[in-house]
Amino acid sequence: MKLVAGNWKMNGSLAANRALLGGLAEVSGVEVAVCVPYPYLAQLQERPAGLGLGAQDVSEYSAGAYTGEVSASMLAEFGCRYVIVGHSERRALFADDDATVGRKALSALQAGLVPIVCVGETLAEREAGQVMSVLGRQLGAVLEVLGAAQLGRVVLAYEPVWAIGSGRSASAAQVGEVHAGIRDWLGARGVAANAVRILYGGSVKADNAAEIFAVRHVDGGLIGGASLIAPEFMAICHAAVA
Ligand code: PEP
Repeated sequence: MKLVAGNWKMNGSLAANRALLGGLAEVSGVEVAVCVPYPYLAQLQERPAGLGLGAQDVSEYSAGAYTGEVSASMLAEFGCRYVIVGHSERRALFADDDATVGRKALSALQAGLVPIVCVGETLAEREAGQVMSVLGRQLGAVLEVLGAAQLGRVVLAYEPVWAIGSGRSASAAQVGEVHAGIRDWLGARGVAANAVRILYGGSVKADNAAEIFAVRHVDGGLIGGASLIAPEFMAICHAAVA
């Protein structure tokens, strides 16, 4: 079954969330979750049936004098199943480096959460022919912290940086090539590659979702902007039904 995860980013209000959630309905044949800003985890304790919950970041530390941080066990207490780690916005704007992303993924797993580990290249890196070397570096840092067995328990999200929020999705051919490359990379390092769900993220909308979800090795999507518009998000979820 495919996974469609919404990433609300730093958007929403109590009233806007209520309206958005009111427009979501259960879709069978696809797993659906929303990753919301921390304060709204409380509001999301009541949510449409079948809707999973996640957060957008987590501390690498488990407890203590880390002002401003939120631990994985706190997210688990609020019913989170997923947490995004290594989103390109966090890497670019908040200095989350490859090793930090690995440690955050570990802290999520230790609390029983499933990290959605984001990887992806910039446009300059793509144009320089460095896609798989960049992804290998990002994934390698996570493998070093988790080991092969635990890496087999994460969800990966391939999110080309140039496709995020740009309205310019990667083509089906580009997505297929990279997802197959990631699957091969994992298998070559002793990871149970077929157990790892690999999502695509980057300007997925209602009108391109079916084409992307039909690509081999695409196990779902990480949806930013379109997850804030109920009919759009619902259409994307329906497109992911096998
Ligand atoms: C994202 O933020 O993870 C994302 C994929 O954004 P968008 O769908 O808006 O490109």
